[in-house]
Amino acid sequence: MQLGIDLGGTKIAAVALDRDGTELARHRRPTPRGYEATLDALAETVDAIDPAGSDGGGGIGISLPGVVDAIAGRVRAVNLPWLEGHSFAADAARRIGRPVRIANDANCFTLSEATDGAAVGAPVVFGVILGTGVGGGIVVDGRILPGANGLAGEWGHAPLPWREEADGPPAVCGCGKPGCLETILCGAGLSRLHRHLDGEMLDPPEIAARALAGDTAAAGTLAHHADALARALAPVLNLLDPDMVVVGGGLSALPGLCETVTRRWGAWTLAAEPRTRIAIARHGAESGMRGAARLWPD
Ligand SMILES: [Zn+2]
Repeated sequence: MQLGIDLGGTKIAAVALDRDGTELARHRRPTPRGYEATLDALAETVDAIDPAGSDGGGGIGISLPGVVDAIAGRVRAVNLPWLEGHSFAADAARRIGRPVRIANDANCFTLSEATDGAAVGAPVVFGVILGTGVGGGIVVDGRILPGANGLAGEWGHAPLPWREEADGPPAVCGCGKPGCLETILCGAGLSRLHRHLDGEMLDPPEIAARALAGDTAAAGTLAHHADALARALAPVLNLLDPDMVVVGGGLSALPGLCETVTRRWGAWTLAAEPRTRIAIARHGAESGMRGAARLWPD
């Protein structure tokens, strides 16, 4: 049995998986505020999904947003500020009474999809989350590549390459720098892009709905957004050359996204017709806890 917990700013979601990925139990509760209360909630969550300790006290995986230093066991997360400065992984292990491994949520997403999701069987996988922010992760031969600083795959804060007038003026990113690719590829970025191209402020679901209904302006915005994604992925292909790119997050459902990227990214990479495949994630919002469970593959 593999136990995974997705520790978010508002909720804790946990799952127990069989080796073949079958879900044995799941549990959900609000995230309390404060460090000690969070540790208690994690221990209670483990009791809820595995009350009998039936796997003999095996390891627990925890997925977290933000910068996760898995080696030092420390976390810096905007939504969980009370974790900062603590040896979180060690403290969680003590409170739960089992070994704990932690990883960034985008890394867990990528691991989940590489293990039994849309990227199963691909040796090198680049995972992309397009939502309120833009995250990424790298999995090689079924294992997360964390990086020396816990940053591997964090492509959202690179500048958007080959910027053009139609992208609009570079917006200042949440990280403080101007023109990060997150500022055009995330949900708010898509809305800003549509306002720049068409003058109207709409949220992403409305832009998608209008495009599906035949609105050429909305379809044009989605095509430009997907072209920006193709440009943003081109350096990833040149540097990492993954077998598979898997896309998750709320914006992965935008109509025609993967098709447009497949058509366009050859124009921006050294391979005119990249063999890399791109697909939408299979496990959706469950990828955090499922990937966390996969942090203990043995
Ligand atoms: Zn940024």
